[in-house]
Order: sequence, then C-alpha cells, then structure tokens
Amino acid sequence: MLTAGVVAVQGDVSEHARAVERAADAHGEDAELVEIRHSGLVSDCDVLLMPGGESTTISRLLRQEGIDEEIRAHVAAGKPVLATCAGLIVAARDAKDERVHNLDVLDVTVDRNAFGRQKDSFEAPLDVDGLSDPFPAVFIRAPLIDEVGDDVSVLARWDDTPVAVKQGPVVATSFHPELTEDVRLHRLAFFEQAAASR
Ligand code: GLN
Repeated sequence: MLTAGVVAVQGDVSEHARAVERAADAHGEDAELVEIRHSGLVSDCDVLLMPGGESTTISRLLRQEGIDEEIRAHVAAGKPVLATCAGLIVAARDAKDERVHNLDVLDVTVDRNAFGRQKDSFEAPLDVDGLSDPFPAVFIRAPLIDEVGDDVSVLARWDDTPVAVKQGPVVATSFHPELTEDVRLHRLAFFEQAAASR
C-alpha cells in the first residue's frame, strides 16, 4: 500500500488523484490518497503530488498552513515528489516573482507563463529519458525552466528548453502528465523511486 499525498490547497487535484490511482493499478499496487490542505498530514505520506494551478495562490497557502516546511522535510528524507507546472514553479529555487514563496527543493529557476506568452496551450509528443516511447505532453501556460543546477538531470527538452527534470527524489515537469491517460511519469516518479525509499 502506497500512501500518496496530493497537495490540495488549489489546482487540478482530482486529475492527479485519478492519475495516481491509475498508476498504482498499472503497477499492481493499492494507493491510499490523502488530500493535503493543512499541516500534520505530509509525514504519513510515502509520496507527494504537487499539482498545476496558480503558483502564487498555492505557495501562499502552503506557507500560511505550515505545509511548506513539511514538504521540505519530506524531500530531505528522500521521499518522492512529482511536481507539475505550478507545482514545479513552487518547488523551484526561484520563480523570479515575489508573489511566489519558493520551496527551493529543486535547484532550477523558472520563468512563469513563458511558454504561455508564445502559445497558450499545446500538446506535443516528447522523448523522456527512461521511457521507451514518446510521452503525450500537455502544456498549459507552462513555465520555462531557465537555469538548471549541477545536481539536476534534464529528463526531457522541448525546443532545447528543459521541460522535465529530476533532482534526488523530486521529478518536475512544465507540462501536465495528470491530464493524459498515460501514467508512465507517475510510475517513474513514484513507484520506481518509492520502492527504493520504503
Ligand atoms: N503559469 C501558472 C502559474 O504561474 C501555472 C500554470 C499551470 O499550472 N497550468 O501558476
């Protein structure tokens, strides 16, 4: 049984919850879902999902509820996190926007909505390290990852720009794997790593 916490203060929470259930099913494992809206729940979770949504709102509420420190402790303990889009912006070292309280659990800087300024949303097949076939990546007002620290591996690029990265137990994407039927990134982020850390 895998206990999966979905950060649920704002954003596409139910899509992530369904995706983790599908990923667990595909992995032959049961998942118990915990919606994280206040402090005191993260320490029970084996893995955490940080959904897309609005990063200024999400990061403000995480700080207000004291969940920010709990997520940092989860990462420091080597437990897996999958952060998508706004989740990536919040997890980053610096989003270069004072309204975002960065968790700094991922050594990248991001430019919010940079892809969005070019094209609002689009879908593209993406080659991802560790996956044998292209992943159908859905980009919605996606953040651009600009600086990538030495300890960060780039798992995928779009137009030469990193769009999927990994540092220790944290996997983060500019796009939204939870909005497709494809659960390979959830499996890669959670089950492959979770098995190693449990
Ligand atoms: N650009 C949005 C933000 O800054 C994120 C968009 C998304 O999660 N689809 O929060």
